[in-house]
Amino acid sequence: KKVADRYLKREVLGEGTYGVVYKAIDTKTGQVVAIKKIRLGKQKEGVNFTALREIKLLKELKDPNIIELIDAFPHKGNLHLVFEFMETDLEAVIRDRNIFLSPADIKSYIQMTLKGLAICHKKWVLHRDMKPNNLLIGSNGQLKLADFGLARIFGSPDRRFTHQVFARWYRAPELLFGTKQYAAGVDVWAAACIFAELLLRRPFLQGTSDIDQLGKIFAAFGTPTSSQWPDMIYLPDYVEYQYVPAPPLRSLFPMTSDDALDLLSKMFTYDPKARITTQQALEHRYFSSAPLSTDPAKLPRPT
Ligand code: ADP
Repeated sequence: KKVADRYLKREVLGEGTYGVVYKAIDTKTGQVVAIKKIRLGKQKEGVNFTALREIKLLKELKDPNIIELIDAFPHKGNLHLVFEFMETDLEAVIRDRNIFLSPADIKSYIQMTLKGLAICHKKWVLHRDMKPNNLLIGSNGQLKLADFGLARIFGSPDRRFTHQVFARWYRAPELLFGTKQYAAGVDVWAAACIFAELLLRRPFLQGTSDIDQLGKIFAAFGTPTSSQWPDMIYLPDYVEYQYVPAPPLRSLFPMTSDDALDLLSKMFTYDPKARITTQQALEHRYFSSAPLSTDPAKLPRPT
């Protein structure tokens, strides 16, 4: 069945946060694509136009580490977003017990993640929903950020769909304290959680509720002091908490290099204003010191 006279629909790839994702063939180019069908049903009129205008901006975000939005159009009351088709994602890589990730492989994956983020942050677009299954991997091994900016256009997914529990594990402390001023730091914190997950091969901070998530963060890094994070007490959901000392980060990552640990701790800075930026992270010595990051084409992937 053809969609908009151009795309030949194939099988369903999965049900995502915003709707069903299909595999399809672009008859104009012969390219295999993934089409995300987004329900616009309950939204007020006019939202379509706002969404389409914002999506135009996403179409202009072209970069090797950002998934390309090939086309976007409304069709039968749904918005269709056409993306390049990707073979797998970082979650599948991390979970695959047959895959060994060397320090150089981990460096390569996190470098590509930060490169994609840096381009978006430069254009003032935040991701807001970073997690390993949003980091797609193409046949050439390139990692690309998916779902960029969608959270802002369509609303934060985790509030509208309960199955989105995993996103909590990647939430920055300022979000858990109810900040309304989203800034690029939320994506850096999430990237740090993904970095840690690559090192540990399991999600690092697995909170079972928002409060428990804060508890997990406090247990890992110690409770934040007001000198570490002066603006904390003004956040809407800030509550006083009992002091917890910080264990040495090294004790949580015994096998990790000093350079990696230094970058990780700078990405896990409590105060979002003091947190390292994506650009600064890319300039960290971790990326210029040996072992250099693996060539993407040579990265291990699920078979
Ligand atoms: P979620 O919102 O839960 O992150 P998505 O809507 O991004 O899920 O995707 C739903 C399913 O479609 C997932 O199984 C994902 O792997 C697949 N998928 C999404 N985008 C692509 C793509 N560009 N290429 C191949 N598969 C994709």
